[in-house]
Amino acid sequence: MPRRKKEQGKVSRDRKSLKHPVQILKGMHDVVYPEVAYFEQLRSVCQEVASRYGYGFLEVPVLEHQDLFKKSVGGTTDIVQKEMYAFKTRGGDEVALRPEFTAGMVRAYIENGMSNWPQPVKLWTWGPAFRYENPQAGRYRQFWQIDFEYFTSADPIVDVEVMQMGVDLLKSFGIKNVCLELNSIGCWGCRDTYRKQLKNYYRSKKRKLCLDCKSRFDKNILRLLDCKNEQCQPFKTDAPQMLDYLCKECNAHFKKVLGYCEELGLGYVLNPFLVRGLDYYNRTVFEFFTQNSENEGGGAKLALGGGGRFDYSTQLLAGPETPACGFALGVERIATLLGKDPKSISEPTVDAYFVQIGEPARVRVLGLIEKFKRCRVRIGFDVGRESLRAQFKSADRFHAQFAVIIGEKEIFDNTFILRDMVSGIQETFPIDTLMDVLRDRVK
Ligand SMILES: [Zn+2]
Ligand SMILES: [Zn+2]
Repeated sequence: MPRRKKEQGKVSRDRKSLKHPVQILKGMHDVVYPEVAYFEQLRSVCQEVASRYGYGFLEVPVLEHQDLFKKSVGGTTDIVQKEMYAFKTRGGDEVALRPEFTAGMVRAYIENGMSNWPQPVKLWTWGPAFRYENPQAGRYRQFWQIDFEYFTSADPIVDVEVMQMGVDLLKSFGIKNVCLELNSIGCWGCRDTYRKQLKNYYRSKKRKLCLDCKSRFDKNILRLLDCKNEQCQPFKTDAPQMLDYLCKECNAHFKKVLGYCEELGLGYVLNPFLVRGLDYYNRTVFEFFTQNSENEGGGAKLALGGGGRFDYSTQLLAGPETPACGFALGVERIATLLGKDPKSISEPTVDAYFVQIGEPARVRVLGLIEKFKRCRVRIGFDVGRESLRAQFKSADRFHAQFAVIIGEKEIFDNTFILRDMVSGIQETFPIDTLMDVLRDRVK
């Protein structure tokens, strides 16, 4: 029978593939303990700070139309041109894994009619984003971001509120020496004038620039200012600065931003080379850093995230005019920083560990676990293990204060033994007093 033959072929192929274990994709990483504990801690701090500043949570899809990113992030940016995970679906849709969050948040704002909600609308989210970059230390192709967006206010005090919250959040994570760098990149009007000046300045130097900058010269001239390549550095010093080309309105906006920062005592460093090369940004742009002697590179600045105003983003997506401001933070970066101070995360612990001997005791323990749902006593157990030694070892690993021991005799007598794991003192109690005894004894 031909059908059977086909199936046999499949089986032998599968067996062959068993010899080559499937490994994780390049640039991806599993988030496992202790990193996952930092992730959880960061998320709960976010939740707390978000509610303090009045932000609501939302989820946006990982997958969106490619056009969303082309139109808002910009078709000439590295993100869209080189780094986007873009593909065609079976249905023929051209889609992409989100390379950042703002575009999806703006789409969600428009599509859910949030312009009709009471304003301002403040939203935050958290999750993985994807960029097909060359993986380096601490940089992944799937990376987690924290994202905060403030919709519908063009007032410069909002820029400052958003930046202050970013600094507040980073400090709440336990990060020391947080610093804020900022700049203004003007509006479409004054930025155009500035772009022309920058082009005039760089034209005669084009030959000496790095390959990336040569191609950015026509596509995205502002990005020449944040090039990290050694050979491009000397030209920056004399380059014209955006702040000298701001129009009247943009200049007034930026002066107010700086004024509010000073009034609030929000420290900042002006960085004329900070441009955040994405199309949707205008006026205030900023980045967060930490400067720490323990950082790699001995006190080098470590970027933690950044953002800015994006008043044009809804128009780029054919939505209602909606001034907005926001920022994103890199979760892995921050988790790595926290990992350098092991005290900042506690090991998993339990109050009481259930140790069982024999089959009936195993079933009884499993039956008891469910009853602890609403009890403040934290318990541990492993009914998959029979060895007494292994179970006590496990109890030690979780720093259990007590062990609850149930063996054949205890099953017969309907009792349990409570063993103090420090003193080793053992006492026997009736099984139906278990919950009360534990509540009473656990400190
Ligand atoms: Zn302007
Ligand atoms: Zn360059």
